[in-house]
Amino acid sequence: MEAKSLRPVIHVVEDKCVNCHRCIMVCPAKMCNNGSGKIVDHHSELCIGCGECISACTHQARVGLDDFDQFMKDLKKGVGIIAIVAPAVAASFEGKYLNINGFLKSLGIKGVFDVSFGAELTVKSYVEYMKKNKPPTVIAQPCPAIVTFIELYRPELIPYLAPADSPMMHLMKMIRRYYPEYKNDKIAAISPCYAKRREFDACGLGDYNVTFNSIQQYLDSKGDSISHYPEKDYDNPPAERAVLFSSPGGLMRTVERYDPDVNSHTRKIEGSPEIYHYFAHLSKSIQAGNAPVYPLIDCLNCNMGCNGGAGTGNRGKHLDDIECLVEKRAREVRSKYRPRGLAKLFKKNKIEKILDDHWEEGLYTRTYVDRSATFKERVISPSQAEITAVFTSMHKITPSDIRNCGACGYRSCEQMVVAIINGLNKRENCQSYVEYEKNLSNEQKLKDTVNTVLDHVLDEMNKSIAGISSLSEEIRSAAEYVLSSSSAIEEMVKNIRSIDTTLARNTTTVLKLNETSTEGKKRITRIGELIGGVSSQADALIQSCLVIGDIADQTNILGMNAAIEAAHAGDAVGKGFAVVATEIRKLADNSGHQAREISENLKSIKALIDSSRESSQDAQAQFDSVMSLVSAVRDEAASIKNAMDAQNSGGNRVINSLGEINNLIVKIRDESTNLRSSGESIVKDIYSLKAI
Ligand code: SF4
Ligand code: SF4
Ligand code: SF4
Repeated sequence: MEAKSLRPVIHVVEDKCVNCHRCIMVCPAKMCNNGSGKIVDHHSELCIGCGECISACTHQARVGLDDFDQFMKDLKKGVGIIAIVAPAVAASFEGKYLNINGFLKSLGIKGVFDVSFGAELTVKSYVEYMKKNKPPTVIAQPCPAIVTFIELYRPELIPYLAPADSPMMHLMKMIRRYYPEYKNDKIAAISPCYAKRREFDACGLGDYNVTFNSIQQYLDSKGDSISHYPEKDYDNPPAERAVLFSSPGGLMRTVERYDPDVNSHTRKIEGSPEIYHYFAHLSKSIQAGNAPVYPLIDCLNCNMGCNGGAGTGNRGKHLDDIECLVEKRAREVRSKYRPRGLAKLFKKNKIEKILDDHWEEGLYTRTYVDRSATFKERVISPSQAEITAVFTSMHKITPSDIRNCGACGYRSCEQMVVAIINGLNKRENCQSYVEYEKNLSNEQKLKDTVNTVLDHVLDEMNKSIAGISSLSEEIRSAAEYVLSSSSAIEEMVKNIRSIDTTLARNTTTVLKLNETSTEGKKRITRIGELIGGVSSQADALIQSCLVIGDIADQTNILGMNAAIEAAHAGDAVGKGFAVVATEIRKLADNSGHQAREISENLKSIKALIDSSRESSQDAQAQFDSVMSLVSAVRDEAASIKNAMDAQNSGGNRVINSLGEINNLIVKIRDESTNLRSSGESIVKDIYSLKAI
């Protein structure tokens, strides 16, 4: 039988997906998820429709798909539709399972059938098959997720799948076979499971899969409640214990009708992933040639069975709160079939009779399709070399790198690698890879930062070293300069000392000059005084000469008078007198003449003396000026000497300071040499650091 493609039953709301991988983690199929992009998408062809990802996704990014909208549209259009209601209804809608029938009928549903009755037929089909064929084991198949899983991933178990329809398909076939009044009506399954739609596709029956969730959401959107609708009974015969079918072990408890000891040879198992691990083990065991331990495997995908199907609002509720509603219903319906009075004597009880009336050989046969080719086409099994290559690219080199932490959602690192190789994931979704890369990138960032810092430090160090080198050069020049300055200053100080000595000598000379000048002045003054005295004497002499001249004049007058008198006295007496008078007159004339001549000479001498005295006074004045100059020179010399002394001591201090400076410069030069070699050693270290 050709495999029909699997219709999508899950939708990914992309803008709600945060790529958390919880969906992959809970997904028993794994490879139906595609985590290679920004979100985790899914491939319906590899999805078993279990709906585990819906409840696992806390971001409401995974939603189930059903036919509610089309169902409502068709109802509005007047399409004839009958409904079959899954037994899990008892655990939903607050236990008001018959009110749902009232609701459905209010929508225009023509007939409502109980799938529990289909479950009764299913059990009958199983029992007949087992009786007739005595298979080593029968894997119950009411759960479409399990059927798809085996078809896709465990095709070796297909021969063990019960070759009978699910309760829903039994019921649909029964309706088509025994209720001709509904032959033109479409069938809507009111179900707890999104995957049911695929079963309809596989069997070619069933038109709408309407989940409890959609009905509840519809009622909620209208502010309505199921309790507002009247209870309506089903339009088919009531089921008996198969109303338990929606609970784990419900199938087994229904089989008890035929085989009270069935419990001892039935494997009851439900819940993902346990059921899938169980199949893996079963498969291995069968392949190893071991006979299955249990002839009947009563299995369901969901933890609470169909009562907690993905299409119910029961996930997260307490198991007891859910199952007690189903048990209550079971008690109610079983009481209807409890044989009373003579009926107890009948071989077959009433329900068996009814089932016989609705069952016939071959009517409810189900076949399966090996879909493993789809899986194999889409997911290649990589070689060990390919796996190793991807591991290497994910930094998984040693066994301890293979953490198998499950953070990526896969069961093992190797499964993640298979997904990566098949383009269904990417290494960036591996926790340890991200950590490694982050560390690497942190390391790289750190390295980059350190390198940047080192480059900067290198730059600065090189600049510093260059600076130190040039400083060393400058220090060397400065040292030379200081040395040459030092010698120049020493020379200068030597010169100053020599000037000082010269000045000292000059000062002595000047002092001597001063003394000599003072002595000279004294002498000149004395000479001036002497000349003054001579001048006075000359004046006196001149006066004397004038007096002599006057005396000579008077003598002359006397001589003249004597001559006159002599003349008068005659020659005898007078003559001698006249001679004396004449002589006197001559003498007077001579004396007058000599006096005048002397006076004139004295005047000349006096003029000379006065001139000498003036010269002497000039000389004195000159001496004064010389002395004042000498004094000024002495003062100047003294101040120059003071200055020179100060220069000398300043020079000495400068020489001392220069000596200290020179010592300091030598020290600085040595230090700068050390500093440069330290800098060069740091640079070498930085290069070694950069090379790490
Ligand atoms: S419905 Fe089930 S098989 Fe499909 S993706 Fe979700 S968890 Fe996986
Ligand atoms: S569970 Fe899956 S679908 Fe939901 S947010 Fe996480 S990755 Fe996305
Ligand atoms: S180590 Fe990475 S690949 Fe391995 S299971 Fe964890 S997350 Fe997945």
